[in-house]
Amino acid sequence: MLQGKTALVTGSTSGIGLGIATRLAAQGAHVILNGFGDHQAPQEAVQAAGQQHGVRTGFHGADLSKPAEIAELMAYAERDFGGVDILVNNAGIQFVAPVEDFPVEKWDAILAINLSSAFHTTRLALPGMKRKDWGRIINIASAHGLVASAGKSAYVAAKHGIVGLTKAVALETARTGVTVNAICPGWVLTPLVQKQIDDRAANGGITVEQARRDLLGEKQPSLEFVTPEQLGDLAVFLCSPAAQQVRGAAWNMDGGWLAQ
Ligand code: NAD
Repeated sequence: MLQGKTALVTGSTSGIGLGIATRLAAQGAHVILNGFGDHQAPQEAVQAAGQQHGVRTGFHGADLSKPAEIAELMAYAERDFGGVDILVNNAGIQFVAPVEDFPVEKWDAILAINLSSAFHTTRLALPGMKRKDWGRIINIASAHGLVASAGKSAYVAAKHGIVGLTKAVALETARTGVTVNAICPGWVLTPLVQKQIDDRAANGGITVEQARRDLLGEKQPSLEFVTPEQLGDLAVFLCSPAAQQVRGAAWNMDGGWLAQ
């Protein structure tokens, strides 16, 4: 379905981004990966998923807290892949502390990576999408883009911000072939959440298994994690012709979190 398109998935060396990159490749999209840590194994996995379609994969290690590096990433996409047709703004970090103790540099980093990076990739990708009159921008927000939790002021502010950015750009592109939407996952068992489970176990003097159950029980009525693959399939749907009039949505996939 996505043959001939190029997807850039930020923060795709792990977790949700890797799940989305894999599913887009399986539909035939060329995929540019980005993120920290080992990128070879993730790139091989994405390559294998797209093998039947002969997809190409690439990697750029831009630090998305740095606008100049984002510009280099987008220039690389233009040079080596002819631009970005599907932009998945997924890179994100978390830090938990009460607002009065929140380290200023953590606030700045969360706002830069979880919110401002999507502004920069969007402003740089959009002219090419408009020229082709086709594009998909998918912002990975969070249930925390729509409701809050204590201790997560920066994350909640950034995620509410990216839902707002999604709506504004969806309006600016409403009469074009470019759609802009946000996906709002509930808990997904990735390194970002495993750290919160480990902290909860250590602070509460409970087992990791108990901490995992408590974490789910507090917010997610299904008591099951959402998977990166399920989120990848939602991204594939948003890229499909059936989703042409899904614009400016903040689509939750959260085991019932937001129904409460
Ligand atoms: P993760 O830690 O597994 O992956 C984060 C990715 O972002 C990694 O590839 C990492 O290398 C990359 N990254 C981090 N800082 C970066 C930077 N400065 N520049 C470039 N890349 C950077 O986390 P995840 O859980 O897969 O999270 C992915 C996205 O999903 C985030 O935006 C997160 O807020 C969001 N999200 C996660 C959950 C969840 O439960 N895991 C729920 C809702 C939303």
